[in-house]
Amino acid sequence: MGSTGNLLHKLFQIHLESLRQLIPDAPEVFVCPICMNIFPESDLNPGPNGEQRKLTDGHVWNEKYVEQFANQNVRASILFERVLLCKPCNSSSGSPNESTLIEFEKFRKIKKSGGYGKVKAFAKSGRTKVDLKRMGIQVDKEGGYLYWKYPINPQTGRTLYDPKEKNQVENLIKESLRTEQPFQVFIEDTFPVDEKWQKAQTALITSAYLKLFHGFGYSYIFNASLEPVRKHILQSFEGRIDTDLTPSPEKHFSVGICGSEYRYPEPHIAINPPSTNRIQILEVNFMDYHMRLPFPADYIEDPELCEDSGKETGEIRKALILDAPDDEIIDSVREKLEAFR
Ligand SMILES: [Zn+2]
Repeated sequence: MGSTGNLLHKLFQIHLESLRQLIPDAPEVFVCPICMNIFPESDLNPGPNGEQRKLTDGHVWNEKYVEQFANQNVRASILFERVLLCKPCNSSSGSPNESTLIEFEKFRKIKKSGGYGKVKAFAKSGRTKVDLKRMGIQVDKEGGYLYWKYPINPQTGRTLYDPKEKNQVENLIKESLRTEQPFQVFIEDTFPVDEKWQKAQTALITSAYLKLFHGFGYSYIFNASLEPVRKHILQSFEGRIDTDLTPSPEKHFSVGICGSEYRYPEPHIAINPPSTNRIQILEVNFMDYHMRLPFPADYIEDPELCEDSGKETGEIRKALILDAPDDEIIDSVREKLEAFR
């Protein structure tokens, strides 16, 4: 067995143990935390004719994202967090949303440094307007002015702009000097921020959900309050993304940004707020992203908080989650297992 096989079997055992805490006579199976379908242990192996494994190892956090943006000292430990996922869930949650998260993060960095995500630029004087998009527009950060350099391919020496457009710009400048009409440059950022952010939010809530599954197992996810989260993730597989995840005080699941970049260099779980006066949620914090997910148990009273978690920080310990599961969901899984035997 290769090292991938070893890792998969190890994960399988960890998940099975967690399942048997709730359903002691469960057969040797894996319940996918996203689609809740059931898979036998043999699905860890490739098919006899070289078919791909039906169960795969899923990174809780996207590998490329962590490699590009997480602090070097903590990358390995972040990527060490793995769970089993069925193949369809793993590949659907991987590609489109996670690559959008990377795009979105890059865009935020560019914006912070005063640049543009996707620039549309034109120059105008009087009634004449010239498109500047191929002119290699740059922003001088210190001077706060724009310049363009008529870019040339260094290998071939060919121009990368339309010479006609260069003439137009030069004429426009001359004309503006002659007529004393102002020469203006208009810049517009056409990066589709909202659309990208919504996909990035879905990638983040998926990772947060898997982080909680990784930490607390089925006790956490076998809960009716998690159904809307699973539904949101499954819908995103079909390309359906809505604005559900915009944070607001009464919501049980959402994704927000606070803007202080290195607040949580490593993913961190907390109860928020760590008191009982309003709805409690579990917050998974990573970098400056805050993923809020339903807190499945009844409200935590102050004395319990003192014993089981740090009151001020809302730090959470496993014991608070372990008595959380929902009988209804356990029963429905039990029924599926019966059918499976
Ligand atoms: Zn699945």
